[in-house]
Amino acid sequence: MPLGAVLLEFDLKMGPVFKLAVPSTLEVTQDETIILFTTRTMIDKGFTGITVKDRQWATYLNPPNLYCILLSPLEHQHDFEEPMENTFGKIEPDGNMNQAKLLELYNHIVYLTGEKLHQDLSKRPEVQRIIERLKKDPDALRPAWSFKTGYRYPVAEDITGKSDEETNELLNSMMSTGLLRGRICGNIVGCPVCNSHQVILHINCPKCGLPTLESGIGLEHFICNRTEFIEAFSTTSGLVCPQCKLHLAPGTYRTLGKVYHCLTCNSFLINPDHILGCVNCKHTFTPDKAKYTPIYSYTSVKL
Ligand SMILES: [Zn+2]
Ligand SMILES: [Zn+2]
Ligand SMILES: [Zn+2]
Repeated sequence: MPLGAVLLEFDLKMGPVFKLAVPSTLEVTQDETIILFTTRTMIDKGFTGITVKDRQWATYLNPPNLYCILLSPLEHQHDFEEPMENTFGKIEPDGNMNQAKLLELYNHIVYLTGEKLHQDLSKRPEVQRIIERLKKDPDALRPAWSFKTGYRYPVAEDITGKSDEETNELLNSMMSTGLLRGRICGNIVGCPVCNSHQVILHINCPKCGLPTLESGIGLEHFICNRTEFIEAFSTTSGLVCPQCKLHLAPGTYRTLGKVYHCLTCNSFLINPDHILGCVNCKHTFTPDKAKYTPIYSYTSVKL
């Protein structure tokens, strides 16, 4: 199944510009936009397959609009020529394209090409072996965590003899074309810029924003409102407040459990900010900006 579609436009003043994408999170860099346009003249309506770095695109030019479908590694650009011709070739370039309309056209192309992919896939020996294996062992296609790809299916990799990435892609295509049933059994966080699952969790101080935190067991003295790690209160004569020098009497203090101390701004805090850092492209982002990918456990369609 393709990964999405974008609508680009050749503006006479600005040159190639990005207009719409489905899903809206699909990103195209300015460099990629230019490459998608430069391989063609701006007058000839029609289809071209273009590969930019590791992304393969099926594109259809209906001046001034360029419709681009991002293909998965299992798909062939030429399979999209006829469906795109029949869909994008018939649109009047009146500038009325919107997100909902593009999604509708894209879904139609996915349906048309999905039929063909279903037929092609079901003839492949490794696909037949996967289906056979599931009949004998319904739990064979449970995912396992992987730092490289996020998740993998070791049993399926043995069957296909292909890499974890290629096997994940194959299983996903088998599900999208109805050859396997997928049930979401988890999810994984990915980088919103490069999609890598190789992300590391950092904690930062919410007051000064810096990662200069140490952790320990916190203690708060109510009399003078002092909070410190418990070690700062420990003396040979028991617990004594380092600020007001009083012995800690029952009811005048509380233990806070695990707390963090910022070495930069000297604050104590219970909830640090959580920041994710991508090992691959070095982008940093908060958990709400992360990309969440569902992970499936696959079963036979007939079960
Ligand atoms: Zn990244
Ligand atoms: Zn701080
Ligand atoms: Zn005190």
